[in-house]
Amino acid sequence: MEYNQMKPGSTSVGDGATDAAASGAVGSGIGKIPKSWDLEADVVVIGAGAAGLSAAIKAADAGASVIVVETNYDIGGHAIISGGNVPLGGGTSAQRKFGIEDSPDLVFRDLTDWSIVQPNGWPDYRYNDRAVMRAFADHCVQTYEFLLANGVNFKDVPPDNQGGHNLGNSAPRENHLIWTKGAGPESPNARGGTALIRPLEVSARAKGVRFLLNYKMTSLVREPGSEQKTGRLIGVTARNTPRILPGQTTPLKSFRSDGNIETTQSSVAIRAKKSVILATGGSTSNVNFRRMFDPRLTDVLQVAGEPYTFQDGSGELAAMAIGASLWGLANQILENGDNIRTKRALATRYNYMTWELESPIFPLIRATGLNVKDWQDLILVNQVGKRFYDETKGDYPHGNVYNEINPYTPNNYRNNENIKFNPTKHNFFNAAVAMNEHSEPPDYSAGPVWAIFDADAAEREKWKLTPPYVDIDGYFFSAKTLRELAAAINNPYQAKPMDGATWISASLYPGTRSRRRHSTPLGARRSCTIAARV
Ligand SMILES: Cc1cc2nc3c(=O)[nH]c(=O)nc-3n(C[C@H](O)[C@H](O)[C@H](O)COP(=O)(O)OP(=O)(O)OC[C@H]3O[C@@H](n4cnc5c(N)ncnc54)[C@H](O)[C@@H]3O)c2cc1C
Repeated sequence: MEYNQMKPGSTSVGDGATDAAASGAVGSGIGKIPKSWDLEADVVVIGAGAAGLSAAIKAADAGASVIVVETNYDIGGHAIISGGNVPLGGGTSAQRKFGIEDSPDLVFRDLTDWSIVQPNGWPDYRYNDRAVMRAFADHCVQTYEFLLANGVNFKDVPPDNQGGHNLGNSAPRENHLIWTKGAGPESPNARGGTALIRPLEVSARAKGVRFLLNYKMTSLVREPGSEQKTGRLIGVTARNTPRILPGQTTPLKSFRSDGNIETTQSSVAIRAKKSVILATGGSTSNVNFRRMFDPRLTDVLQVAGEPYTFQDGSGELAAMAIGASLWGLANQILENGDNIRTKRALATRYNYMTWELESPIFPLIRATGLNVKDWQDLILVNQVGKRFYDETKGDYPHGNVYNEINPYTPNNYRNNENIKFNPTKHNFFNAAVAMNEHSEPPDYSAGPVWAIFDADAAEREKWKLTPPYVDIDGYFFSAKTLRELAAAINNPYQAKPMDGATWISASLYPGTRSRRRHSTPLGARRSCTIAARV
């Protein structure tokens, strides 16, 4: 889960976030106290993802009335389309059952061990907030049992290292969830995360939690304060954000509806008698916010989880507008994160993963995208048409997992000697966002990455090169010659037309890799040459 720690402090920003979400302006700020409240509950939770649903259940368990405000048409957030790999250790019942020794102290020590770096040198654990890691470590076991008690059904296998990252060295801690019912109204993309989220939702609804779907929190409302005392947080404002698919007139509806608050008022004021919990996810979809951490992250880059939901920083901005400071945001943004990607599915705008045709939001996605089995089948070029890195190398570091550093002596600088330093293994991303000859002011963005392949490669990969598998509106082009292909490329992030002459010479240059398994990646044997955005 992404972590945003909020502390009272002097940092404050007002409105001005660009809306990364398709659903309208963020407009986070301090709300005026309304003349009357439209709704009220003891606890108002903003966001119905993994954190929001869990918080709502805990509040309901403690006897509070709860309203969850969610901007999307259904619950789930990024979590419902996540892989369903749940890293919880510290001595869970699953670890004990399979004889795995672990403790909260080991989890804490692992996740704050400065001496561990990734193979490309990235020292991610140094950026972990120690207080948050302590709280995480101390609550891992409780969280695991909480999930079981609320209907989550983990695969009955020993916890391992698969699928998740950054677990530390001392014990296997990854638990897995499987979704077998495919994509559709219940599961936006048939991913394991649905087996985490739907049971939590069922439990929350059964415990009386009410859901205000299609409403986006726009501001936090605070009582007037004095110099001595800040005003208490007493509620939120939210505006209606129905999602209507292209060609439709009625908004999308949630899979379950018991406990939904049915209203279509354009905006509502919700009183929180006891507290407001912000569980809006993160800020990777907000280009301005993420560029505070890494200015290379211009809007050409796609973010995992879009377009089901957008983590647009609205929670962070609203909190800062009433005086909160944020700590420890680096890990979710910087180069070790895998939220923002430059390499994965081809020929689709949403390239973090391929989407199922049965997804209820497929009209927004437009194309499943193409999964690559063998990167030897492609040449990747930048917006100028030049190769810039070895396509077969990894995109981002995967974190350290159990036993990866061996022998491992916690907090000992000699651990570095046992990590095989391999900067090119996981540096694709950095090469992909580097400037090139078409990087222009004011952003100097790297522009899109294009994959070139021919009909033979498509056959080997067993790709279907027609809609709805590829998006022919800006993300997939084919032509008989490279020169024609360069001229055909028309994509909003391509700064200038590609020069076919450059492309040909640059692509034929041996580039960053000396050996290529297939000798004809550029359409030499067949006349048809094809490019797809990565
Ligand atoms: C494709 C993919 C695969 C992943 N795989 C894994 C995995 O295998 N294991 C793992 O541990 N993690 C995985 N993750 C990461 C994990 O899903 C997230 O860390 C997790 O979902 C974060 O939970 P959250 O509740 O903080 O945010 P989310 O689950 O994103 O929920 C936030 C919710 O808040 C809503 N919201 C935002 N702003 C507002 C607002 N202003 N008003 C009202 N509602 C708002 C959003 O619409 C969203 O529903 C994956 C993520 C993706 C996208």
